[in-house]
Amino acid sequence: MGTHQHPLGISFEFFPPNTDAGRDKLRRVRDELAARKPRFFSVTYGAGGSTQARTREVVREVGLSGITTAPHLSCIGSEKAQLRDLLAQYREEGIDSLVALRGDMPSGMASIGELRYANELVEFIRDETGDHFEIAVAAYPESHPQAPSFDKDVENFARKMNAGANLAISQYFFTADAYFNFVDKARALGVEQPIVPGIMPITNYTKLARFSDACGAEIPRWIRKQLEAYGDDSESIEAFGTEVVSRLCQRLLDGGAPGLHFYTLNQSRAPLRIVDNLA
Ligand code: FAD
Repeated sequence: MGTHQHPLGISFEFFPPNTDAGRDKLRRVRDELAARKPRFFSVTYGAGGSTQARTREVVREVGLSGITTAPHLSCIGSEKAQLRDLLAQYREEGIDSLVALRGDMPSGMASIGELRYANELVEFIRDETGDHFEIAVAAYPESHPQAPSFDKDVENFARKMNAGANLAISQYFFTADAYFNFVDKARALGVEQPIVPGIMPITNYTKLARFSDACGAEIPRWIRKQLEAYGDDSESIEAFGTEVVSRLCQRLLDGGAPGLHFYTLNQSRAPLRIVDNLA
């Protein structure tokens, strides 16, 4: 890590906005977060390539900050030729970091494509482009929702790391021990690369509950109960959420986490409040 970066090794994730107002806001958020000298920014990619053009545009826009910017890239529903083109375009644009994912089949999509799992995508990127890209992959401390078992999921994760990933970023979670347990299991299978916890700030209970159901992240009962009790008092939700998530981050760092990756949802206030509590 260079001395010019934030000492905690933080990174921030954005999604491609679909309105002009959203794009203007993201530029402000980008500048506010860039001031904290993150290791990198990343930009999500719609399932089946649905946001491909917007992801590229936002990667360019976010990259103007001078911070390394990693596009997410998913393989499900794509043919190798399309992925090859996209990798070539990214190389031409000076991109040297990627977040490689399988993705989820959007309803109505006809074909799975040529690569079925993220480990195959990582192999493909290495075969096509050698060591050009630093590749991050996804980790699931509370298990991927479709995994047949926790142990199988960790084995699949290890296979993906062994295919040539440089680091992993986890799905978010609110129980520090879920992360430590996952890291121990992965290390026992020989995974040596950094596994960076993904951090979801709490600002909106309804959205958080919907997200968490979909991705299989557990909101502990005591957090749910407290957030429910706040109803639509968003100030109290954010104050409580900041305290809970700051404490989680501190425990993770104290326990050896190699950094923190924030799911910003294109907001700067909540992640900054958390980062400042730690610094
Ligand atoms: P995989 O690692 O391929 O795993 C998927 C499932 O298959 C797991 O259950 C695993 O156990 C199993 N599996 C893996 N390999 C094998 C194998 N070889 N044989 C049999 N089973 C196997 N989604 C998006 O659409 N766009 C994004 O930008 C995006 N960004 C994300 C960023 C992060 C940090 C995370 C944690 C998730 C992100 N997602 C994104 C969500 C992700 O696409 C979904 O969770 C998807 O269901 C799984 O993708 P994966 O790369 O983890 O898949």
